[in-house]
Amino acid sequence: MDATENDLDATPWDRRVDVIVVGTGAAGLAAAIAAHDGGAEVLVLEKADMIGGTTGVSGGMPWVPCNRHMAEVGVGDSREEALAYIARLTLGREPDPALIERYVDKATEVVDYLETHTPLRLSAPPSFSDYFADQVGGKPCGRSLEPEPFDARTELGEWAPRLRTSPFMPRLTMAEGGKFQMGEPVDLSIIGQREAADVRVLGGGLVAALFKGLLDRGVETLTGTRAVDLVVREGSVTGLVVDAPEGRLHLWARRGVVLACGGFEWNADMVKAFVGRPVHALSPPYNEGDGHRMAMRVGAELGNMYSVWGQPAVVDPTVTYEGRTLYQFEVLRNLAGTVMVNRHGERFTNEGVAYNDMTKAFGTFDPVTIDYPNRSPAWLIFDDDFRQRWPIMSILPGSPTPDWLPHAPTLGELAALIDIDAGALEQTISTWNTYAAKGEDPEFHRGTVWWEAFSTGGPSAKKSIGPIHQPPFYALAIHDGVLGTNGGMRITVDGEVRHFEGGTIPGLYAAGNASANVFGPTYPGGGATIGPALTFGFLSGRHAAGQTPRQP
Ligand SMILES: Cc1cc2nc3c(=O)[nH]c(=O)nc-3n(C[C@H](O)[C@H](O)[C@H](O)COP(=O)(O)OP(=O)(O)OC[C@H]3O[C@@H](n4cnc5c(N)ncnc54)[C@H](O)[C@@H]3O)c2cc1C
Repeated sequence: MDATENDLDATPWDRRVDVIVVGTGAAGLAAAIAAHDGGAEVLVLEKADMIGGTTGVSGGMPWVPCNRHMAEVGVGDSREEALAYIARLTLGREPDPALIERYVDKATEVVDYLETHTPLRLSAPPSFSDYFADQVGGKPCGRSLEPEPFDARTELGEWAPRLRTSPFMPRLTMAEGGKFQMGEPVDLSIIGQREAADVRVLGGGLVAALFKGLLDRGVETLTGTRAVDLVVREGSVTGLVVDAPEGRLHLWARRGVVLACGGFEWNADMVKAFVGRPVHALSPPYNEGDGHRMAMRVGAELGNMYSVWGQPAVVDPTVTYEGRTLYQFEVLRNLAGTVMVNRHGERFTNEGVAYNDMTKAFGTFDPVTIDYPNRSPAWLIFDDDFRQRWPIMSILPGSPTPDWLPHAPTLGELAALIDIDAGALEQTISTWNTYAAKGEDPEFHRGTVWWEAFSTGGPSAKKSIGPIHQPPFYALAIHDGVLGTNGGMRITVDGEVRHFEGGTIPGLYAAGNASANVFGPTYPGGGATIGPALTFGFLSGRHAAGQTPRQP
């Protein structure tokens, strides 16, 4: 199908290259590497001044079935097991089953290629299990990979400060973090040493290693350069109009354009229109659905637009990122001695379920009361016994409690501070304490769901159920957070964007959060977003490089 024609008078062209990649997250970096190695002259565009997007601040894990590192942790895998596992979780709501098969068949090939042809090195953290490891085809570890520490200062030189890394996660690998959780000895001084030497781990390490791959290839990246429109000639996408620091530029792409410019979580109008409830993004504030709007203008078919990568989020109001409130990962709700209540003072789900699924409960509609009773913030309630055992973000056990964390000597006073019904909160905690005494949660089955203790060998009442009775009491606000949206352009197995009236749009590709999540609304394991972003980014770049060049 032809792309919807536009008549941008773009001559003379400011630049002509073979393939233009928009975005420098996992999808964009993989696309650029594959396009270059496929023989194309490649130009990469990045709207922010920093390289790396959400990928740079992430955990950096790709989830890769049947990968070769599984043997290193003694776990076998097969195509059939991976497909059965994914089918169990998607419940038939994936945009296209063919993409799942393609993913299972190609993801391991793609990460092998990147490990062989770039400085990226991966390993399998030995205790990081699939998020639903007890379901058919689930694995106790091995599918979630992580980047090895990367020496950014030595390898990247002047580029190092321009690459994103997490503003709040300590520089520990997932393997080291897993050991710490299991109570095994970990030398925490490594965190300071890595910061001093600028050795990057997690998403910062992934981006640094892949970007070094681009530098080694001489691929040019223009930062502060925002793609604003696609150029269409004779039914094919043949370039981009961009806003660069020097002004508006017209770029010709002989073989194709890859939209790897993330989701639309920072575009409030699109979130309202498609997701339908307000959400708080944990990503850097640049993913505004630019790619979606460009692609819609030329006739792209969309899928999965209601869906997000959900993540219950917390805020320390003293910490900002790029001038905005920083929403961070919430990591306490699965631990014994906590419950989460809604604004009516009632529990509403098993607090410890996998993060992507937990946030779906925020959107529940009650047709009797005509209300969204769980709309965020919800409140994580715990007592002083818990407070003195666990860090609450930057608040360490034994340190003074800051004013921004509501706390009070009684549950009734705590309820008044957070504006919920005191009687309801007291009743909820009293009931919970009877469950704690029995070691059983008959309402929401704490201690039975795999993710509640996914990296410590599986669930148990001991790990998840404990009383809340030692004053003072605390309430931590839990927000409806997202790592990103995951609805977008529907693609073929080679990343070509589908036209809404059938066929594809020649010359246009999409990958990562700009495309419709291959898994639909589900999240099989750590890395279920970066895995497909790398894979379909790579396949897009390779396919684009193989196209016949179009001349202006
Ligand atoms: C704290 C945190 C931890 C996470 N951990 C993991 C994990 O371990 N594993 C996992 O799978 N997922 C994880 N995620 C989610 C994951 O990071 C993202 O879903 C994934 O990185 C998205 O990759 P992407 O390439 O599609 O987009 P991004 O990485 O967001 O990159 C998109 C880029 O496009 C740029 N851009 C946007 N518009 C334009 C434009 N018009 N022109 C030019 N450039 C543009 C953006 O600035 C950005 O740099 C995590 C997320 C967060 C926030």
